Amino acid sequence: SSIPKIVILGAGYGGVLTSLRLQKELNYNEADVTLVNKHDYHYITTHLHMPAAGTDHPENARVNISKLIDEFKIDFVKSTVVQIRPQDRKVILEDGTLSYDYLIVGLGGESETFGIPGLAEHAMSIRSINSVRLIREHIEYQFARFKREPHRTDYLTFVVGGAGFTGIEFIGELADRIPELCKQFDVDPQLVKIINIEAAPTALPGFDPELVEYAMNVLQKKGVTFRIGTAIKECSPDGVIVGEGEEIKSQTVIWTGGVRGNRLIEEAGFETMRGRVKVDEFLRAPGHDNIFILGDNSLLFNEQGRPYPPTAQMAMQQGVNCAHNLVASIRNQPLKKFAFSNKGTVASLGKGEAIGIAFGRKYKGRVAAWLKKAIDIRYLFIIGGIPLVLRKGKFL
Ligand code: FAD
Ligand code: NAD
Repeated sequence: SSIPKIVILGAGYGGVLTSLRLQKELNYNEADVTLVNKHDYHYITTHLHMPAAGTDHPENARVNISKLIDEFKIDFVKSTVVQIRPQDRKVILEDGTLSYDYLIVGLGGESETFGIPGLAEHAMSIRSINSVRLIREHIEYQFARFKREPHRTDYLTFVVGGAGFTGIEFIGELADRIPELCKQFDVDPQLVKIINIEAAPTALPGFDPELVEYAMNVLQKKGVTFRIGTAIKECSPDGVIVGEGEEIKSQTVIWTGGVRGNRLIEEAGFETMRGRVKVDEFLRAPGHDNIFILGDNSLLFNEQGRPYPPTAQMAMQQGVNCAHNLVASIRNQPLKKFAFSNKGTVASLGKGEAIGIAFGRKYKGRVAAWLKKAIDIRYLFIIGGIPLVLRKGKFL
């Protein structure tokens, strides 16, 4: 019989971990593995809030895929997936077609705008290297514009929609960046506003209330204004409409209000909730024993029947399980059920400040910030060993 073909879509947390494990566990000529990704680099999504605000360079949030995978064992194809055709066992790329026996979908999420008018057109979101380059340049440009039109203080109002972890981590960085920009452009810091708008009755809904309060205090001291219990209803080139029709004028709206699955998944005919596939205990799409769905495109429930939040931590553990089950499938061995093991959550609040829960206890301030760094370095180590830690780790 011929060698089984494994195709992995997306070199994010899920796709990279699957690839790394497969290249380690598969024997020579046991399978033919192809990894497809839009860019020839992997981006470290969990670091993107920094280059978005301009407190770090985008270069430090990406790694060339050729530095991560062994190209003697895995074929890397730089291309964009345009269609998945489960009925034909094929994937259509912008410049070709791939057929597969096993498919792994790790294409990551997309920003969810819930149909709020104008958001998709006028707001920016923190999703990729390209999207954060735009945000960073856009913010700087507002300072330059203000110098030419000093009556337009709305150029200096920065609206962040959603106080989930992405919004909170981003405003922590932005608040650190503003004083630098004020110096660089000779702008009075009093004129600059960072407004974080959150629809729920609290920032970081569902997270430990004591740590949420700590985070809000840290951020307020750095100049952030919170509008909690206030929903964004509309977005236009001039700003946002919130609550019962109040307008907040701004030329910069960063939307961090939610994530959905990749549209290619529902277009392929899979049943989805917010673009995510409710996978079985082996991470397979229902009715497709040869299709595994990972990361932000998968939906899993905990013992209480609540959906797990989509995280890098989840995607990585899924990648490891998926690789194991691919090897088992090829060898006709029994599959292993996926079980998520939550190692905790740590979120940064800018330089030297963070909050988190790990090893069953709470952390805040400098200790939490160190923990965050340790987590980032551990990730570099997992995907690229000591050489990658030495190349990128010093920037984190
Ligand atoms: P991704 O990592 O999003 O990767 C998807 C890959 O697919 C990308 O390489 C992309 O280029 C590629 N791709 C997309 N479409 C196509 C296409 N059509 N064709 C080809 N390739 C394509 N989680 C944590 O656990 N801890 C954190 O500290 C944390 N911090 C975060 C901070 C920020 C600012 C953000 C935005 C998210 C954070 N998250 C964190 C969430 C985490 O980043 C995601 O859950 C995780 O990236 C999901 O991994 P994934 O493998 O599903 O997809
Ligand atoms: P999220 O869905 O967790 O948060 C979105 C927030 O926006 C919510 O608080 C929601 O109430 C609010 N919102 C929704 N609609 C709104 C509206 N119309 N007006 C105002 N507010 C509105 O999304 P996220 O923060 O991007 O996080 C995505 C995933 O990534 C989560 O699973 C999160 O845990 C993970 N993440 C983790 C970290 C970390 O661990 N350090 C950092 C970033 C993201």
